[in-house]
Amino acid sequence: MKSHAQVVVIGGGVVGCSVLFHLAKHGWTDVMLLERDELTSGSTWHAAGGMHTINGDPNVAKLQKYTIGLYKEIEELSGQATGVHLTGGVLLAATEARMDWLRGVVAKGRYLGIDLEEISAKEAAELMPLLDPREFVGAVRNKEDGHLDPSGVTHAYAKAARVLGASVERFTKVEDIVRQPDGQWRVITNKGEVIAEHVVNAGGLWAREVGRMVGLELPVLAMEHMYLITEDMPEVAAWNAKTGTEIIHAVDFDGELYLRQERGGMLMGTYEKANKPWSEFQTPWNFGHELLEPDIDRIAPSLEVGFRHFPAFQKTGIKQIINGPFTFAPDGNPLVGPVRGLPGFWVACGVMAGFSQGGGVGLALANWMIHGDPGADIWAMDVARYGDWASMAYTNAKVRENYSRRFSIRFPNEELPAGRKLRTTPIYDQLSAKGAQWGASYGLEVPLWFAPEGVKDEFSWRRSSDFAHVAEEVRGVRERVGLCDISNFAKYSVTGAGAAQWLDRMLACKLPKPGRMTIAPMLKDDGRLIGDFTLANLGDEGWFIAGSGIAEQYHMRWFEKHLPADGSVAITALGVKLCGLSIAGPLARQLLAIVTRTDTSNTAFPFMDIRRTDIGMAPCLVGRVSYTGDLGYEIWVAPEYQRHVFETLMKAGEEFGLGLFGSRALNALRLEKNYGSWAREYRPIYGPLEAGLDRFVAYAKDADFIGKAAATVERKSGGKLRLRAFIVEADDADMIGDEPIWFDGAVRGWVTSGGYAHNSRASVAMGYVPKEIADESDGFEIELLGKRLAARIQPAPLFDANFERLRG
Ligand SMILES: Cc1cc2nc3c(=O)[nH]c(=O)nc-3n(C[C@H](O)[C@H](O)[C@H](O)COP(=O)(O)OP(=O)(O)OC[C@H]3O[C@@H](n4cnc5c(N)ncnc54)[C@H](O)[C@@H]3O)c2cc1C
Repeated sequence: MKSHAQVVVIGGGVVGCSVLFHLAKHGWTDVMLLERDELTSGSTWHAAGGMHTINGDPNVAKLQKYTIGLYKEIEELSGQATGVHLTGGVLLAATEARMDWLRGVVAKGRYLGIDLEEISAKEAAELMPLLDPREFVGAVRNKEDGHLDPSGVTHAYAKAARVLGASVERFTKVEDIVRQPDGQWRVITNKGEVIAEHVVNAGGLWAREVGRMVGLELPVLAMEHMYLITEDMPEVAAWNAKTGTEIIHAVDFDGELYLRQERGGMLMGTYEKANKPWSEFQTPWNFGHELLEPDIDRIAPSLEVGFRHFPAFQKTGIKQIINGPFTFAPDGNPLVGPVRGLPGFWVACGVMAGFSQGGGVGLALANWMIHGDPGADIWAMDVARYGDWASMAYTNAKVRENYSRRFSIRFPNEELPAGRKLRTTPIYDQLSAKGAQWGASYGLEVPLWFAPEGVKDEFSWRRSSDFAHVAEEVRGVRERVGLCDISNFAKYSVTGAGAAQWLDRMLACKLPKPGRMTIAPMLKDDGRLIGDFTLANLGDEGWFIAGSGIAEQYHMRWFEKHLPADGSVAITALGVKLCGLSIAGPLARQLLAIVTRTDTSNTAFPFMDIRRTDIGMAPCLVGRVSYTGDLGYEIWVAPEYQRHVFETLMKAGEEFGLGLFGSRALNALRLEKNYGSWAREYRPIYGPLEAGLDRFVAYAKDADFIGKAAATVERKSGGKLRLRAFIVEADDADMIGDEPIWFDGAVRGWVTSGGYAHNSRASVAMGYVPKEIADESDGFEIELLGKRLAARIQPAPLFDANFERLRG
């Protein structure tokens, strides 16, 4: 074994081997994989080997498509068979709600290049002869489904990596990982030590234990999972003989089952409701090539449905039941990327569909390590989407929920119950008493809307029980004044002698003068967005930044990576150590005037000013800015004062008809202003010009801000895309995001977010289209629930296009 390597990859499952292959393929060949046993000795060896392109997140779906396309390449390079059978498959719907969901999947497939086709239940039965068409209302055909040999694929990755110069050490267990004073990692194994610049944790079932070696508690948990294999079935033999093809894959969402042919019989797996975690606290190191005890009672309810939907199973015997553990993150997507605070330590774990996702995970991680960027939008699997709040108990609750809902529909207005009321703000109970309906964002409870007694969300693809009430909240803001808890924004404090100079390099905007704020895009080296913030200059006190709450860990990882080594700059994420309230609407100034002693007149306190002032008796930081696009203020206050400020405003607001509003009303308000939001309109695949944020980029400023050269090129070339707002001829449902945008009969773009702008009485969608068609007014359609709805570009905001309200 070598004593030094540029990279040590820990774990020889499908994921570790894919990472090793991709590093070598992209030019890093001084890379070494350490496996404590034989390759595949975690969850990989007993996988059912199914692969598919569908994923709830379109960017993950793209990487799944990449993975499936990769098998031929590694087979050729390694000479190792992967056993890929591209049979195709059917996704089955037993209810109309499921069919609506599947139509959305077909629509997404159009701009992802995934060939999906809606078919009838009868047509599905012609393709998959074992199903009873009377049990289904419709289906979708996917030509890119199939299965493979899990061990063959893993060995093919490893052999291909070796061909390219990588090395693999089996029976080498990593026992500890120690950071050296020079920043390198000392990887201590049962066979000696390796010094590495980078370490990748691809420990699969032991990812938690490997993480703990460097003081990291990763939000992953293994679950038991069962599938059965039947005796040979005459129906299968007859089909094979008649058509010369295998029986295709089937996913029966309502039965929570997946099926495929296995030799002369069938394989049927299920995500049962009565699921069971495995090794909740510590994975035993002596676990290897063994299976868990099957528990047929646990999967009996799903099998009952399966035997009804696929009657041939009633007449056949079960040859074997496989029960094995594999890991999940709380939302079921992988955990990939560099870990904040541990330079050179990377994770590629929590991969629950290694044979659909392993290739994409390996590619993204290799790109990230070699080029400093994953090369694709992988937010949905970035390890930074979780903060410290994702504790072991939270992870346990969410993973169990996610497993039991693996095939369930999640409606756009549906909030899931597990892991809730974890983080709350001091006014949680008061808002609840006013009817707040809560959602969770980055573990924090966020008021979505306020319901009258006895009314609650009815989950639907269409406008629902909240519609009229959100309309009232919107009216309260636009006609009088509204109040919203905005503690879920991320807040940062930047201090130190080098702060201004550092911010000038980190952010693409011109720095504001003391007492002033500005919109601050942040770019990566390739000139694309990595953040959008409001930056405030607090004079001698330092700098204050507000941004997207869900990206706090993501942005801190980026900020900290770029901090100067001399300690001249300090940045702190304030989380809910600083709470927020927003007041907005034409009477907001009058309301503020009577609760504070500061001069609130437009000349004394203009748009984008910020200052410290008391509200009631509580010291606050108040900025004149509002995401509602209205006259408004954001009030930042320490948690111990939030209740006082809330009560002061509520009492004083009575004479102005002050109403509460939640994040759904905020969405309706920002849409009619064409305001984008992080992780929707603003993502690391778009340039500032494409996203319409170029007006906030100070291309000419002296500071050589990160991404300046590339952004300047984008400005000259014009980029490729444009963000646009559309008004859609919607009927009883509005866009939510990821719907395809058609132009002249072809899919040319995609929606990033949408909703009903109650004040303007318009269904609004925001999305990207190629710049060549971005100024066309006619010819657009947006596909929703299987229908193409006429849409037209709305260039100027529907509300306050001349900024009279905002600045007046
Ligand atoms: C019953 C069942 C059916 C499944 N069906 C499918 C399917 O149809 N399709 C699909 O895509 N996925 C399926 N999966 C999931 C799939 O198995 C996983 O996604 C995949 O195996 C994850 O691979 P991995 O490399 O991340 O982890 P693992 O396979 O667990 O590999 C981790 C490796 O790291 C090694 N290791 C850990 N710690 C150390 C250390 N300290 N030192 C050295 N080596 C170490 C382990 O020995 C192990 O070999 C199934 C899983 C089960 C249990």
